[in-house]
Amino acid sequence: MLKFRLTITALLIAIIALVLYGINNSWQYFWPGLIAIFLVGSLVLFYGSYYINSGFYVKAISYANTLQKQIAISFDDGPLPEFTPQILSILKEKNVSAAFFCIGKHVVKHPELLQAVHNQGHIIGNHSYSHGKWFDLLSAEKMYADLQQMNTVTRQAIGVTPLLFRPPYGVTNPNLARAIKKSGFVTVGWSIRSLDTVATDADKLLHRVLGQVKPGAVVLFHDTTAVTVTMLPLFINAVKAKGYNIVPLHKILNLQPYA
Ligand SMILES: [Zn+2]
Repeated sequence: MLKFRLTITALLIAIIALVLYGINNSWQYFWPGLIAIFLVGSLVLFYGSYYINSGFYVKAISYANTLQKQIAISFDDGPLPEFTPQILSILKEKNVSAAFFCIGKHVVKHPELLQAVHNQGHIIGNHSYSHGKWFDLLSAEKMYADLQQMNTVTRQAIGVTPLLFRPPYGVTNPNLARAIKKSGFVTVGWSIRSLDTVATDADKLLHRVLGQVKPGAVVLFHDTTAVTVTMLPLFINAVKAKGYNIVPLHKILNLQPYA
């Protein structure tokens, strides 16, 4: 929230300076100046909301500071019967551990899938209950209730309470910052956004992600698309061929996954 407060303070100071200049000299720069301040302010706040690594409202942990050839992989938006079991069988075959940032409303429909993810030793993170399109317009209280509901259904399904949270769409704002603080979550981002939900070609996707791999990287995938299922075994093989180990997210980031 520090960067957010600093930005608001800077914008207010700029407006005050504009008014003082108007009083003492002339008002000819007032409206152009005000429009410029509004545009710059909007751009900065937009950047802060949409780039989770900006740390604008919420400090997100998005990579590990390491020189060792290690990365972690994560899957958002499941569990879904169409894709999660396939992802799980690939991970099992390749002996790889991942993190799954799950959506509560899917957990309620498929608790057996969450149990399968958990029983296979993967980490479950909170990715909200509703993951609604308008989630970022909710009040801090409603966001808090939504995040708690996800934790409740996870507890009911597998008996653990997630401590790691990844914001829906990676968008953050002051209300979400309050809800996260009240919940006691650690916010986890990513350093490589695979863009697998909009990818159509597994080979292109593979090479785009592979080109960004470096020590300490956290990769964001989704267990919601067929192209990810096709690409995943190739990705694991290619990463290992480059001499990398895929390690559990909470271990590479040195975080406690559950309360
Ligand atoms: Zn999501």
